[in-house]
Amino acid sequence: MKTNLLIHSCFCQRFKFDRYILLLLIVTLLELPVFPQKTIKNSKTDLDTKVELLLKRMTLKEKVGQMAQIDIATFIRRVDPHGNFYGPQVEPNELVADSLQKYIVEYGIGSIFNIGSKGYTIEQWYHFITQIQEYAVKRTRLGIPILYGLDAIKGNSLTAGATVFPQPLGMACTWNPELVKKANEITAYEMRATNTLLNFGPNLDVGMHPLWSRLPETFGEDVYLCKVMGEAAVDGLEGENNDLSNFNKITSAIKHFVAYSFPVTGKDRTQAWIPELYVREYFLPPFEAAIKTGAHALVLNSAELNGEPIHASKYWITNVLRKELKFDGVILSDWRDIEKLYYQHHVATSYKEAIFLAIDAGIDMNMVPYDNRFMDLLIELVNEGKISEKRIDESVRRILKLKFELGLFDQPVRNYKDYPEFGGEKFRMIAKQAALESIVLLKNKNNTLPLNKNAKVLVVGPTANTMQSLNGGWTYSWQGVAADLFAQEKNTIFEAIQEKVGTERVAYSRGANFHQIDNLQDALDKAKNSDYIILCLGEEPYAETPGFIEDLYLPDAQTELAKTMASTGKPVILILAEGRPRLISKFEHLMDAVLVGFCPGNEGGDAFADIIFGDYNPSGKLCITYPRYPNDLMTYNYKDTDLPDHYYGNNGHQPQYRFGYGLSYTTFKYSNLNTNKSVYSEKDTIEISVDVENTGNKVGQETVLLFSRDVIARIVPPLHRLRRFEKITLHPGEKKTVTFRLTINDLKYVGHDNQWTTEGGEFIFFIDKLSKNINIELHK
Ligand code: BGC
Repeated sequence: MKTNLLIHSCFCQRFKFDRYILLLLIVTLLELPVFPQKTIKNSKTDLDTKVELLLKRMTLKEKVGQMAQIDIATFIRRVDPHGNFYGPQVEPNELVADSLQKYIVEYGIGSIFNIGSKGYTIEQWYHFITQIQEYAVKRTRLGIPILYGLDAIKGNSLTAGATVFPQPLGMACTWNPELVKKANEITAYEMRATNTLLNFGPNLDVGMHPLWSRLPETFGEDVYLCKVMGEAAVDGLEGENNDLSNFNKITSAIKHFVAYSFPVTGKDRTQAWIPELYVREYFLPPFEAAIKTGAHALVLNSAELNGEPIHASKYWITNVLRKELKFDGVILSDWRDIEKLYYQHHVATSYKEAIFLAIDAGIDMNMVPYDNRFMDLLIELVNEGKISEKRIDESVRRILKLKFELGLFDQPVRNYKDYPEFGGEKFRMIAKQAALESIVLLKNKNNTLPLNKNAKVLVVGPTANTMQSLNGGWTYSWQGVAADLFAQEKNTIFEAIQEKVGTERVAYSRGANFHQIDNLQDALDKAKNSDYIILCLGEEPYAETPGFIEDLYLPDAQTELAKTMASTGKPVILILAEGRPRLISKFEHLMDAVLVGFCPGNEGGDAFADIIFGDYNPSGKLCITYPRYPNDLMTYNYKDTDLPDHYYGNNGHQPQYRFGYGLSYTTFKYSNLNTNKSVYSEKDTIEISVDVENTGNKVGQETVLLFSRDVIARIVPPLHRLRRFEKITLHPGEKKTVTFRLTINDLKYVGHDNQWTTEGGEFIFFIDKLSKNINIELHK
């Protein structure tokens, strides 16, 4: 379904109009196509007037068309009414003209999304979107432009030559929201450059299941961290005032609402059973915060929650999202998920009934993705009086408004040449900084690292010489398998090490692919002449269903390779390039040092090399728990009752590395944990401060994490909850005081009535190994 396209059509008209509303009136009267010209700052009233005037002129078919989002595959290959492709894939430089005519002109679809088989260049995007907008703006009765949607969760990373950042899981290990914001500012700029103005991101799913194939797309397992990073991402994409007429900004579509990320089995799009009070406390807050931040669009969770598919849930979509959270942006279905209500979830007897359920629940736009049945059936539902035209108008109003806000009517296509910084050095340096800060040093026995640049090293293992494991899914293609082709000029770990210390000091032997030993003897021979072994293990790239695993351990071949390398007696430095924490407990004790990068991106090879040889002092900390055993999977916020009883010979909970863990080449000492009072009443601000000192001999960055414990609460309280964090830089001998401010609201939990509450009483704050008790007295 994916191909390259190059469209040789030049359509770069910049229309010059001033009095837009007057024009709309004229065109309304004369039934002319709309061709406005330059960006006009829309006041809210202007905007609403424009939308209403246009809506009034639309037929039911045109309205329903706006609610459909069609996959680009439909314009590359022919598709039968059942969504099956037939015939040859057309040449990559042309779209199927009869598909353009059918969907854009006859059906008046509102949106197109996705790429073909692999990333287009910026020039290809330009020609390709130009052709699409030509059909939409010039050949349709009302000239409504198409909104193009793309997954750009780590930079505009499906596009050739774009700046590619670490996966969000890596970004969260930076504990640097400012960097997340910058990365998303660059993403927005580079999406504008490709005329793809709807980003299916950021992912606000709280990544609690280590098996889940979409874990790399999340900001980790803690709800507060996800909330802070999510806000930063939306700010970066949309700008702090969410003014989408800014030609450097695009719309975010926060996803996947809600409770998608904690399926019982750990497999994507499978059932989740999560009590509502838990959904509200642990999954809803990042969405609520992003909505307050102004996110313009949202994608729904494809799976079921407590037996109800979210796509059919009036409760979650209308009651919670629309009424309670006051979200007035565009609500998108996920991929084919309305139809799946019928053929997979089995909650509807037909596709038509599924459409009824979904539209009635409150969905605005359907990611169809391949055919016209949605539009035909929705028209039938309206004609039969099952869905009112008023309900259709509500959705179309939101879609049109978004298009006006984005300036699409003013300039449907912008020239990529207006984006000279696309993929440039300035942006690359920020991606490099993100990669550096995302890598976590997990073990450093006897200060093995950093290595001396004169040392002779053997680089070995399946992730050593590929860009795929550094990047993961959603990079140049859905599954990320084209990264070696598209990022040829970027350094793999092996190439980066060679570049840093010289080819003569670096030997390479793969030793094993991801699943099979290949030439161990070669690796053993080369190890003899090396001072150190740099063992690169991890995962192949994946996204969604193809990323399912049955076993969290790294494959046996990689374990065998690790044990064999350790048997040489040479110090082994383990480098993990992976998207989720694959278990290493069968050999971790044999390793001298361990570094992990959760898909640190195109700059990841260089970042690893900088850290290995001491050109950068690592500062990343885990945003997830790194488990030791497959049957001891718990997030850091476990409860006292989750800890097995030692009297019966149990080991307790022993993750390989804890949430928030990460070493540095320097040392930090914490002291003086203080609060401004010891007893607080409801309106008080709680101030917690701590001194942090760099007691080593290198400049270092340290993230200070504040946790709290509610000592007694009616819903069993977790032992630790993250409340705040701050990343600081300290020179050797330097000491800083870090102060956090909280209110009582920050300490509330969701009770049996699904409301935020607290009984007050005793709370404990923890920073590093220090703790401080306070009391809250509520006057009820
Ligand atoms: C994924 C979404 C993605 C969409 C469009 C779906 O399968 O679940 O996260 O945005 O495809 O590519």
